[in-house]
Amino acid sequence: MEESAIDHLTTVREQNRQALYSIGLNVVLTALKGVVGVLARSDALLADAAHSGADVAGSLAVWVGLRVARRPADADHPYGHGKAEWIAASLVAVLLLLAGLDVVYASIRQFFKPPVAPDAVAFYTAVFAIGAKEVVYRYQVTLARRLGSPALLAGAQDHRSDVYSSLAAAAGILLAVIGNRTHVPVLLYADPVAGLIVALVVVWLGYKLASDSFTALMDKVLDAKAASDMLHLVEQVPGVMRVDDLRARTHGPYVVVDVKVSVDAEATVLAGHHIAKAVKTQMMEHFDDVSDVLVHVNPFLTSEGSMRGGNRDRDS
Ligand SMILES: [Zn+2]
Repeated sequence: MEESAIDHLTTVREQNRQALYSIGLNVVLTALKGVVGVLARSDALLADAAHSGADVAGSLAVWVGLRVARRPADADHPYGHGKAEWIAASLVAVLLLLAGLDVVYASIRQFFKPPVAPDAVAFYTAVFAIGAKEVVYRYQVTLARRLGSPALLAGAQDHRSDVYSSLAAAAGILLAVIGNRTHVPVLLYADPVAGLIVALVVVWLGYKLASDSFTALMDKVLDAKAASDMLHLVEQVPGVMRVDDLRARTHGPYVVVDVKVSVDAEATVLAGHHIAKAVKTQMMEHFDDVSDVLVHVNPFLTSEGSMRGGNRDRDS
């Protein structure tokens, strides 16, 4: 699957644009659900507002972290700032866990008070949120498939889970409104029950973000499958006669690759340089998370058979 540099740029630009739209929509939904939730006295809508707020905080942490992470290495940080994204994400994860638990506590407290009937406008607000999220989900899925972007597809899935969250809130509010109109007071508890369910989702989001970022904070060697994909790619680069060694390790959100290749021993320094450059370019085009490739060029000695096996140690 060949991908040109221009297509890659378009995809990255589109990913950034969609990420920004998503944050904007979540800010609007947080405010709308929050205000209506208070005025219409709906715990379910307030919990859903907390969920949207959590999504905003999570996206902002990743965005700010990425900006810091992209800063080049400097004297104080010789290995770059790659881990900043995950440190920011860890902080947000802890905040999400605390906020989620707070809403869980608030929802449980409602069961020990006389139930209040939410206003029907809370239900319409939840329905509006469901519609908006479903539209954005479908649009982004289509876009992700067209561009072949897993990052965009993951973002779209987030909108889908928001649809389910708002559906739970809407169902709880609707039952409570019906209970109020038909004088079945026990149905009024459907609103805080839905609030509790949505709050547990926020806790789960915080837990997931925490475990992801803690894992990423530990540098780990890439799994065998990814390493062999890289090996095959380097072998295909014109001029590469053998891959002597390939090591990839993660650094924060990025992957750094060290590769040693053998090229024609009679080739000029310039030709060797071009081959090394091609290896680096191909790697960075094919693997989105690869941020740097260090290529070492060894001579491949065809005239002296005895030297061929010895090449492996004849580097540096
Ligand atoms: Zn969400």
